[in-house]
Amino acid sequence: MELALDEARAAESRGEVPIGAVLVVRGAVIARAGNRTRELNDPTAHAEMLVLREAAHNLSAERLLEADLYVTLEPCTMCAAAISFARIRRLYFGATDIKGGAVVSGVRFFSAPTCHHVPEVYSGMAESECAGMLRTFFQGRRDQKPGI
Ligand SMILES: [Zn+2]
Repeated sequence: MELALDEARAAESRGEVPIGAVLVVRGAVIARAGNRTRELNDPTAHAEMLVLREAAHNLSAERLLEADLYVTLEPCTMCAAAISFARIRRLYFGATDIKGGAVVSGVRFFSAPTCHHVPEVYSGMAESECAGMLRTFFQGRRDQKPGI
């Protein structure tokens, strides 16, 4: 999770929302990324999506059966679906996202009858640090744009 936090900090320094993700297989880091939606002009370039793509490419596999994914924020619906499609074994996330999350919040994607692979989910890793980084980021944005 510390590496995911590093990726979140790097994303913030690029002007992105500070969210980071790391994919690990048998103790080895296969892929790591932070959000790049602004840089790539790609609404799907969430940290989790970038990590899943990179890991699948690096492993030459469409399914990441023994992979564990660490992400600083509860994944959204899109990312939860991608995590399921990728057959991720374990998902570890930091802060809960009651506004945009889809694991323990919102649609709770993994509980849907149409979800065919459910990872083991562990939440709350380094939660205060993950949540604090986002809170500081959005507080800073509000301060820059009064009235918006
Ligand atoms: Zn997402």
